[in-house]
Amino acid sequence: MLHPFPTNDRSSARLRLAAALAASETEIIEDLLPRAQPDAATRQRIDRRAQALVTMVRAKGNKSIGIEAFLQEFSLSSREGVVLMCLAEALLRIPDADTADLLIRDKLADADWAAHLGQSESMFVNASTWALMFTGKIMRFEPTGEPGLGSTLKRMITASGEPVIRRAVGTAMKILGRQFVMGRTIEEGLARAAPDEPKGWRHSYDMLGEAARTAADADRYFESYARAIAAIGRASAGRGPIDGPGISVKLSALHPRYEVAQAQRVRRELGPRLIELARLAKHAGIGMTVDAEEAERLELSLDLIDAAMNDASLKGWDGFGLAVQGYQKRCLPLIGWLAERARAANRRLMVRLVKGAYWDSEIKRAQERGLDGYPVFTRKASTDVSYLACARAMLAAPEAIYAQFATHNAHTLAAILELAGNRPFEFQRLHGMGETLYGEIVTPDRPCRVYAPVGSHEDLLPYLVRRLLENGANTSFVNRLADEGAPIEQVVADPVATVSALVTKPHPRIVLPRDLYLPERRNSQGVDLNDWGALERLDGEIAQAAARNWRATPTGRAPSGGRGVYDPADPRRVIGQVI
Ligand code: FAD
Repeated sequence: MLHPFPTNDRSSARLRLAAALAASETEIIEDLLPRAQPDAATRQRIDRRAQALVTMVRAKGNKSIGIEAFLQEFSLSSREGVVLMCLAEALLRIPDADTADLLIRDKLADADWAAHLGQSESMFVNASTWALMFTGKIMRFEPTGEPGLGSTLKRMITASGEPVIRRAVGTAMKILGRQFVMGRTIEEGLARAAPDEPKGWRHSYDMLGEAARTAADADRYFESYARAIAAIGRASAGRGPIDGPGISVKLSALHPRYEVAQAQRVRRELGPRLIELARLAKHAGIGMTVDAEEAERLELSLDLIDAAMNDASLKGWDGFGLAVQGYQKRCLPLIGWLAERARAANRRLMVRLVKGAYWDSEIKRAQERGLDGYPVFTRKASTDVSYLACARAMLAAPEAIYAQFATHNAHTLAAILELAGNRPFEFQRLHGMGETLYGEIVTPDRPCRVYAPVGSHEDLLPYLVRRLLENGANTSFVNRLADEGAPIEQVVADPVATVSALVTKPHPRIVLPRDLYLPERRNSQGVDLNDWGALERLDGEIAQAAARNWRATPTGRAPSGGRGVYDPADPRRVIGQVI
């Protein structure tokens, strides 16, 4: 075998999960629909509750929904929204601070922030716009061209000099930061969260920052997680993984080569790191959830999680958990596999069901690589249906899964309340989002955990952009909610009914990667080097080709003699002769 397969798990649950990647979207959705469908009476109650929630949130007005208003103002259809996105995307790939500063200067100065001033009813949006505008203009040392504002600013610069403006920018950035970030340090975050906890708000802290690029990055993130776990443990003061605060970790932050091609190394190096953090969390008496990342890393992450789940030192601790993404075609079999593995390990997992934050890039990546299909659904309503079917499966396995439902969608929330009845579970939302929605329903008996990013505003942008992409999409609930022109019945339309009406076909505008360029030509075909099944098939084909002794001779020459040709991947191996 040429490829080091990281999994030895050939159980039928695992094979079902793997098979769903290649299955057609229609086939999967037809299986999910009846599992997601409530009876008629329940459906009516869900609709009524969802509509009431939307009416309530709209009545409270945009002013109270900070990030939603921000995302509405800086949508991806505005130049400034796109600038923010490009900037963050590019920043991720710039290794040194000086070049990053140059890029920020270039991009922020380039956009027309002034046009957004006063456009929103939200104080927060206007404050953020000021911050961005100041940054843009001051970085170039130019006064702004805004009438009235320009001359004031000019006077300020001449009178007090640049440092004053910088302080003003600093303050405005803090306002921006405070909206999206729980605290600059874990201690600050814990202190800010504490007063809300008796009301039913729980927290899971996320140390901001993106994937590790180097071993030094990974070490730094490990240390930062370890320090945070200790601090959260002190604050939790024995409340345990369910009632107390916890931590969310990203595997990509803990290893610079967290990828399938490095599976053996990842298993050897990242596996023990994850277990070590889990031990610290167990010792601190808190919960630890592994965030879900790109679909291509799913199988690899499951092997690491399975190893941790079965590690003897973690026995008796029910705080270990992971996030699963409803938009993935593999989500339902994944829940089946998790429940089976948790039972086998005699433990209960904390499972956070999300819809998934990487939809755009999943689609784009599959197209670029010319893959056979997509790992995710192509219709928003299909993701919603999958979410409900998965929620039911989780609620049906309480001995193996502690269910956590992360959503800002009023329909999804109303459906969960109905489906769950009196069974134990918690809601989850992101800090800075969904406060009004959950404000009405959260009590100590109906708790909601807040995903609380911690870090400085320098680390915030990539996170902010993920939220911008997600909520700026016209299919997103938050976007529809903020659009006063959208009728309530449409905003909370029942996804099961929507999908049934569409006859479960994939989205017609998102054709399969191979059909992208039709009718001119077929897209070139790629191999999914992250899919075990594809790798296994490839291995077979390579072995077959390697078993043959290849000969290249000019026509008319006797096929004897010649010079050996060597395998470029293994220069010791002769693959044939050429004359
Ligand atoms: P909705 O508007 O109802 O749903 C939006 C979602 O629908 C999109 O994000 C996408 O997933 C899906 N979607 C949009 N268009 C389409 C389409 N055309 N076809 C198919 N699907 C589509 N995300 C992660 O990936 N990993 C995590 O670990 C993670 N952790 C989170 C933790 C918490 C506490 C929360 C609240 C969120 C987390 N998220 C995570 C982000 C989460 O995925 C998004 O916030 C969520 O998808 C938004 O869903 P919604 O129900 O709030 O909104």
